[in-house]
Amino acid sequence: MGVFELGKMTLEGLFKKPETVLYPFETVTEPPGFRGHIEIDETKCILCSMCARACTTGCIEVDKKGSTWSIKPFACVQCGLCVEVCPKSCLAMEVSRTAVGRKPSEIVLVVPEKPKPERKPRPAVAAKGVAAPADDDPKVADEGAKAPLSPELEAEIAKRIEGLDPERAEKVRAGLIARARRAEAQKKTGGQTAEAETKAPVPEGVEA
Ligand code: SF4
Ligand code: SF4
Repeated sequence: MGVFELGKMTLEGLFKKPETVLYPFETVTEPPGFRGHIEIDETKCILCSMCARACTTGCIEVDKKGSTWSIKPFACVQCGLCVEVCPKSCLAMEVSRTAVGRKPSEIVLVVPEKPKPERKPRPAVAAKGVAAPADDDPKVADEGAKAPLSPELEAEIAKRIEGLDPERAEKVRAGLIARARRAEAQKKTGGQTAEAETKAPVPEGVEA
């Protein structure tokens, strides 16, 4: 840039209206695509911390124990990553600018507790009035194991535990009976038969 051109620009600058405004006393209209600041609908937040993990500058903090979500607005660079990763879509980029302040501030919001979902009761087993065995309730599973079995089921279970040591055979038998009871309960809704369920591969967690 030549000296004359530079001098012309300097002189022009002396008489032109300044490009800047006295924010926050004066504002200009935000241009299209302007990313203002982060807003949260804390009633939808589940405190999963995904936004905090994704945050480029580490300005979001999530305290699950204390049920708080906080942000340091002046440290935010408006990259929008937190908005993208939030599984509950509770974060948004609001067009308006970050509120001004003399000191770096932190906004701390208390996230309201969500009502716990109700657990559905397990369906009762129609056959012989035995309650459906629960995998996580050994007492119920044991009671189910003691209920009489059909000869076909006994034969199938005997085949599966053949050759196992007595302790392991007992465990496998209890697991297979529990699954058979479940299958009986599902029969009503078009599920598998007890024998078909027993023939299925033994899943992880149940020894076979
Ligand atoms: S917009 Fe970027 S910098 Fe700002 S809070 Fe979200 S992830 Fe962090
Ligand atoms: S990602 Fe969304 S739901 Fe998860 S803590 Fe952040 S704001 Fe809450």
